[in-house]
Formats: sequence, structure tokens, C-alpha cells
Amino acid sequence: MTLGEITVVGGGIFGLACAWELARRGARVRLIEADRLGAGSSGGTVGALAPHVPEPWNDKKALQRDALVAAEGWWAEVAAAGGVDPGYGRTGRLQPLVEGPALDDRIAAARARWRGFAMWREGAPQGPLVPESATGWLADDITARIAPRRALAALAAAIRAAGGEIVEGAGAQHPDRLDAGGGPVIWATGAPGLADLSADLGRPMGNGVKGQSALLGFAAPGAPQVFADGLHIVPHADGTVAIGSTSERDAVTPGPDAQLDALIARAVAICPALAGAEVIDRWAGVRPRALSRAPLVGAWPGRPGYFIANGGFKIGFAMAPPVAGMLADLLLTGADRIPAGFRPD
Ligand SMILES: Cc1cc2nc3c(=O)[nH]c(=O)nc-3n(C[C@H](O)[C@H](O)[C@H](O)COP(=O)(O)OP(=O)(O)OC[C@H]3O[C@@H](n4cnc5c(N)ncnc54)[C@H](O)[C@@H]3O)c2cc1C
Repeated sequence: MTLGEITVVGGGIFGLACAWELARRGARVRLIEADRLGAGSSGGTVGALAPHVPEPWNDKKALQRDALVAAEGWWAEVAAAGGVDPGYGRTGRLQPLVEGPALDDRIAAARARWRGFAMWREGAPQGPLVPESATGWLADDITARIAPRRALAALAAAIRAAGGEIVEGAGAQHPDRLDAGGGPVIWATGAPGLADLSADLGRPMGNGVKGQSALLGFAAPGAPQVFADGLHIVPHADGTVAIGSTSERDAVTPGPDAQLDALIARAVAICPALAGAEVIDRWAGVRPRALSRAPLVGAWPGRPGYFIANGGFKIGFAMAPPVAGMLADLLLTGADRIPAGFRPD
């Protein structure tokens, strides 16, 4: 199929992943961002690429599992194309063990469903960042990390290297007023985009959920990340450890606040080694949560030539590559692989 230029609106992980996937396959791409790349929820610090529990199992979990397995190669290609390291590393994960009759079933399910990766009871883990536990530990080797801000920079460099154009500071675009030269347009505008879509369709499509995270100066670059008490504690390659996150549906203030101090205190209780580490970044963003909680991908109902890539919610960095692949297939070859539960209609 021969297309003119494809416009992508929104410079978060969804928009950049779409622009890269299209550019890498030879399409002419222009990305338009209202503010700056990473101005929305993708500009944070956590970057956990962690699987859902392997039982019960469903198609959405299988898609995320495939994305986690493919991520290493996908990000290696981005790094090679643009020369910027996205901070990807499959460093695994440690969790305090919560004993229960289903644990053996869960370990067996992970072995069966994680395509060569596994979960197991860990004896006594060594290393700089081990969670407190009176009952033992659970480890897995499918979980990875990515440095969100570096990942965006890596994608931008790769898109430019492939001949794509990126326009920042363009102001908020509107589908009625955008001049896309008649070419297809992908709207990847995060939480504000869900509000715009809801208004356009006259029915609720999703909402924003505020989250806060912190970055500590603590060097544990090769250590597994920790998941405990609902918290992600993620060591990055640059000598930092990210802690995330709060989940605030009815947030009234936009920035970081006292809830972040409580989050840091919980992380220190989980991993006492973090006590006294300098807090070098406090951040808050608004995650785009579609009503279905699944990503929202496909044609914008009632607007021919317009497409949606949204709803990454808490796993947007894992889901952006497959979402981008689905839209690139649809636009470039006409192949429609979008799961029924992801479609805006
Ligand atoms: C605290 C926190 C921790 C998180 N941790 C993780 C994690 O560990 N792992 C993970 O996978 N995910 C995580 N997430 C979720 C992840 O960040 C999101 O799923 C992802 O950022 C969504 O990306 P997006 O591109 O859809 O939206 P955004 O990043 O919000 O991007 C939308 C972009 O569109 C621009 N825009 C909006 N409207 C317009 C317009 N009209 N015209 C032009 N531009 C416009 C915005 O400025 C913005 O740059 C976390 C989120 C938060 C808040």
C-alpha cells in the first residue's frame, strides 16, 4: 500500500513507538507534540517491565508476555538505529514470598506460559537490594527494566535517523483543525486524549489516574528489581533506584506531594539498604486508563483516516511496541491483528 505522510499526534511512549515502527518500515512520518517529548505520563522514572501473574491466564496477559519476551530485541534495534541507549535490562525481579497453597501452581504456570522464562523460590538472595522477608523469596527472570526518559530519547533519535520529523511545542492539536495533508493520523495523546475521545463520541472512554514516583541515588545497576506491598523498586543502570507508584483516581493536585514521602518510607521499610539514599527526583504523571483497562487501539469511530493508540495505563512501556506493530500492520499492509477487546468501537 502506498501512503503519503503519516502524522502521529503525541510524543509519549505510544506516539513515539508508533512513529518508530512506521519509520523503520519505510513510511514517511511526522510526529507532533503539543509541549515536549515526555511531557505526559511517559516522562517518569520507574520503567518496570513486569508480567502479570501467570494464573489465571487470558489473551491480554499472553499479549503482554509476548511483548516482554520481544522487548529485548525491539529496544536493541531502537538503540542501534539512533545510537541512544534506552537503559533496557532484563535484570529479573525478587518478591517476598507469600506462602499459599497456590504457590506451586503459580510457579508451574509461569514455567508453562512464560516462553522459556520462569519463576522460582529463591534460597537466600545476595546483592545490594533484597526485600525484607520472614518467609522467603520468589524470583523471576522475565521481568526487565527500561529508563523511561532515555527510552523516549532513544526512540526520537531512531525516528530521526530513519528520516522521520518530530515537531515539539506545537500546542494542543484538534482533529477538526489538523492539516495532515490527507494522510492517516494516529492520535496518541494519553489522558487528555481519552477526555477528547469521550467528548467526541459522547460516551466515557476512560480517564486519567495520577501516579507519583521518586528516584533515589543508590547504585545497584545489575540487581533484580523488587516488587513488594504493591511497590516497584527498580534499580537502573545509571546508579539510581526508582520507586513507584501511587494510584490516585481523584487527585486534586497535579504535582508530587506528601503521598510520595509515604511511598519512599514504605520502600525503605521493604529494602532497608535504601535508608539515607538521596532523593534526586520527585515526579507525578497522569496515566491514561481506558474504561476496559486494556489498551485502546484502532480506527477512531466516525473519523475516517484517524486512528487511536492510547490506554497504556500501568504497563504502557511494555504494551507500546505491540500496539505500534498492530497499527503499522493496519496502515501499511491492511492486516488487522487488533484484538476485539482493544478497539475503540
Ligand atoms: C508514576 C507512574 C509510574 C509508571 N510506571 C510504569 C512502569 O513502571 N511501567 C510501565 O510500563 N508503565 C508505567 N507507567 C504507565 C506509563 O507511563 C503510561 O502507560 C504511558 O506513559 C502512556 O503513554 P502515552 O504515550 O499513551 O501517554 P503520554 O505519555 O501521556 O503521552 C501523551 C502525549 O501527548 C501530548 N498531547 C496530549 N494532547 C495533545 C494534543 N491535543 N495535541 C498534541 N499533543 C498532545 C502530551 O503532551 C503527551 O506528551 C507509569 C505511570 C506513572 C504515572
